Amino acid sequence: MVRRINLKRANVARSNTIRDINRQIILNYVREEGPISRADIAKITALQRSTVSLIVEELLNTGLIEEVYGESSGGRPPQLLSLRTSHAVAIGVDLGKKTTIVATTDLSGRLLEQEEFPTDKDFNKTIDRVIDSAKHFIKKNGGSIEGIGISLPGMVESWTGDVLLIPHLDWHRPKVAEIVRQATGLPVKIENDANAVALAELWFGRPEINNVRDFILVYITNGIGTGVVFDGQIYRGKGGVAGEFGHMTIGSDAPIACAAGSHNCWEAFASERSALARYANLSGNRNGSQKITFVELVELALKGDAKAVAALKETAHYIGIGISNLIQGLSPEVTVVTGTIVRAWKLIADEVTAAAESGICQGYPSVNIMASTLGSHPTLMGAFSLVLADKFASVSVT
Ligand SMILES: [Zn+2]
Repeated sequence: MVRRINLKRANVARSNTIRDINRQIILNYVREEGPISRADIAKITALQRSTVSLIVEELLNTGLIEEVYGESSGGRPPQLLSLRTSHAVAIGVDLGKKTTIVATTDLSGRLLEQEEFPTDKDFNKTIDRVIDSAKHFIKKNGGSIEGIGISLPGMVESWTGDVLLIPHLDWHRPKVAEIVRQATGLPVKIENDANAVALAELWFGRPEINNVRDFILVYITNGIGTGVVFDGQIYRGKGGVAGEFGHMTIGSDAPIACAAGSHNCWEAFASERSALARYANLSGNRNGSQKITFVELVELALKGDAKAVAALKETAHYIGIGISNLIQGLSPEVTVVTGTIVRAWKLIADEVTAAAESGICQGYPSVNIMASTLGSHPTLMGAFSLVLADKFASVSVT
């Protein structure tokens, strides 16, 4: 934890004063360790008690933290500090291929309220719906919303926020950020879904994940997205579109074609669609006359349906093969898998790890693969974290 905070400090040190840096360190301790006393903060950070008290006063005034009373051990109950979670501070938009969710969160990343609707392939219709929901939440929360984060399944030039392409919806350079910003008057941040989930893992994930510097997020859906975190930051590459490992070559004759028509890609071997195709083959339903959804396939497997289990395990094998390539190329401390398939993690974990280990040549670091703990809407958590991470990384007192 200390290491991650120090890294973030290093990144902002150039433009901020020591006081600003200390303010961020203290805010992050309250976020991660709260409720916590001023004395404990001083002890952990080795900052002077008077410095801590001064900064805590400022953070209380900005409304970022609040005082709560701890358990009394006889005398007066101790005054502790915790994040102020009584009101909504951000809107997250999880723009998915089929469904879009617009929701509010407090400072801790807790989901407060949400509206959900089918994603219309007509860009204007979808974006109008997003704006309607956002305006509704902004009005309802009386000015406490500070920004909007949008996660979407496309290529995003992160520093401009320009969406280059959303392949599944066939939207070319849709002006998402500009339109939402103009309609709501709020700052808007946009990120590719896998990168957004990686950011959420970093900020809200389990300690094994948010304490590491280098990890890879593998997001399994109809396709496969990956988010690469180096030194606590999303690795973006030239043009901001790095991490398209879904189309690396795994073999030949995959059960389906990838979105670009190839039968050799990781996505063609290890996506949800590939698992459904395997299940259809195993149940003698090659023409797909009795279609089930991937959620239903996972439920069947969890109930012990042998064909569903086999389809998931074979898919898990290819998930592991792909991960072995990522590990050999990038040597992450942890690889995190997310998506609906994680619900069946206890059935597939051994297959994923065994395939990853068998695919790795001698001398590479050990394989460490985990399931995400972000819950059923990792991309929504990603959208929240686009606003919240910024808030914790650059606190200014005005
Ligand atoms: Zn491909």
